[in-house]
Amino acid sequence: MNTNEKKKIAILGSTGSIGTQALQVIEEHPDLYEAYVLTANNRVELLIEQARRFMPEAVVIANEKKYEILREALADLPIKVYAGDDALCQIVREKPVSMVLTAMVGFAGLKPTISAIEAGKSIALANKETLVVAGELINRLANDRHVDIIPVDSEHSAIFQCLAGEISPIEKIILTASGGPFRTFTREQLAAVTKAQALKHPNWTMGAKITIDSASMMNKGFEVIEAKWLFGVEPEQIQVVVHPQSIVHSAVQFADGAVKAQLGVPDMRVPIQYAFSYPLRLHSSFERLDLFKTSTLTFEEPDTERFHNLALAYEALRKGGNMPCIVNAANEVVNRAFLDDRIGFLQMSDVIAATMQKATFIKEPTYEDYLQTDAEARRIAGGFVGEY
Ligand code: NAD
Ligand code: MG
Repeated sequence: MNTNEKKKIAILGSTGSIGTQALQVIEEHPDLYEAYVLTANNRVELLIEQARRFMPEAVVIANEKKYEILREALADLPIKVYAGDDALCQIVREKPVSMVLTAMVGFAGLKPTISAIEAGKSIALANKETLVVAGELINRLANDRHVDIIPVDSEHSAIFQCLAGEISPIEKIILTASGGPFRTFTREQLAAVTKAQALKHPNWTMGAKITIDSASMMNKGFEVIEAKWLFGVEPEQIQVVVHPQSIVHSAVQFADGAVKAQLGVPDMRVPIQYAFSYPLRLHSSFERLDLFKTSTLTFEEPDTERFHNLALAYEALRKGGNMPCIVNAANEVVNRAFLDDRIGFLQMSDVIAATMQKATFIKEPTYEDYLQTDAEARRIAGGFVGEY
C-alpha cells in the first residue's frame, strides 16, 4: 500500500497507558497506520523517545515549561514541536489527520475533542470524561459534522461490537464491572484502605486516575453515562453486573431476549485496534482466550451501599443538565486528594454527594456553562476536602 493511504492518527496522550498501547497497535500494522501527531502533558522524556521512534509530523507538550527540552531534543529531526493547550486544539485539525485518539485524562479532553469534531475528524474515544461532562453537546456536534465516535473503553467497544450488523433497537445493555480490588471489602475495611491498595487493580494496568476510579466504582458510574450517550439508551436500560474475571467485556440484550456478548482476555489493544480498523478486523499477535484456562465466569449484583459512587452517577444521569459535569469535577478533586493522602476512601463519595447538593444546577448547559460548572464544582469540592 502507498504510504499516502495510511490512516494518519493523532494521539492525545501518547505517553499514557492507552497512548502507549495505541502505539503498539500502530507498530503491529505499519502499513496501515501512522502516528501523525503525538502529545503529552508532562512526560517529556518518553515523548522524545516516542517521537524519535515514530517520526510523527508534529508533537505537542501541554505543559509549556517543557517546551525547550522537547524542541532541543528533536532539533535534528523534521518534526514540528508545539506547546500548550491551544496547540493541542489546533493540531487535531491538521488536514491529513483522519482520526483522533482521545487518550488524555479528565476534563482537559473536552476542548480538543470538540475541536477535532468541528474539523470533521473521526474520534476514537478513550477519554470518557468528555462524554460524562458534555455528552449531549458532543453528540449534537458529531451529528452536525457527520463524525463517527468509536468507543475505545473495553465495555463500550464490546457493546459496539455486539451491535455490528444489528438494526433493531437495544432492549438492555449489560455493562460488566470487575468490582476492583475492594469488591469483597466491608464498609469498615473500605474506610481504612490505602492508595497503594487502590492502585493495584486485579485485571487491568491503567493510569492512576482511572485505577482509583475503578476501585471506587466511579469509573463504572461514568461508563453508565458514557453508554447512554454512545448508544442512546435510558438509564433503566443499563444494568451493571459485577464480573470479577473481566472476560465478558459487556453484552447487549435484544427484543427477542437474545443476548450477545463480546469476550476476550483483558487487553486494551484489542478495542484500540478495533477502533482504528472498524468495520474491519485485523490479525493481531495478542493473547487468545482459552476458556479451559478461565473455566469459571461469575456474575454478581453491585452493592451501591458500599460503592455509593455508582448510585451518584445514576442520580446525575437521571437529573441531567450539568449534574454529570458537577460529579466529574468533584471526582477529579477527590481522586487527586485521595492520591495525595488528604482524604480517606469513603470520603470521596461524601464530597461528591455534598458538591452535587451545593453546585449551581443548569438544565440546558452551553459549552461556557460547562467550563463555569467545572470551575465552581472544583472550588466547592476543594472546600469540602479541606474540612477533613
Ligand atoms: P494515563 O494517566 O496513563 O495517561 C494520560 C495521558 O494523557 C498521558 O499521556 C498524559 O501526558 C496526557 N495528559 C494528562 N493530562 C493532560 C492534559 N491536561 N493535557 C494534555 N495531556 C494530558 O491515563 P490512561 O489510563 O491512559 O487513560 C486515558 C483516558 O482513557 C482516560 O480518560 C481513561 O478514563 C480512559 N480509559 C483508559 C483505560 C486504560 O486501560 N488505561 C481504559 C478505558 C478508558
Ligand atoms: Mg472500561
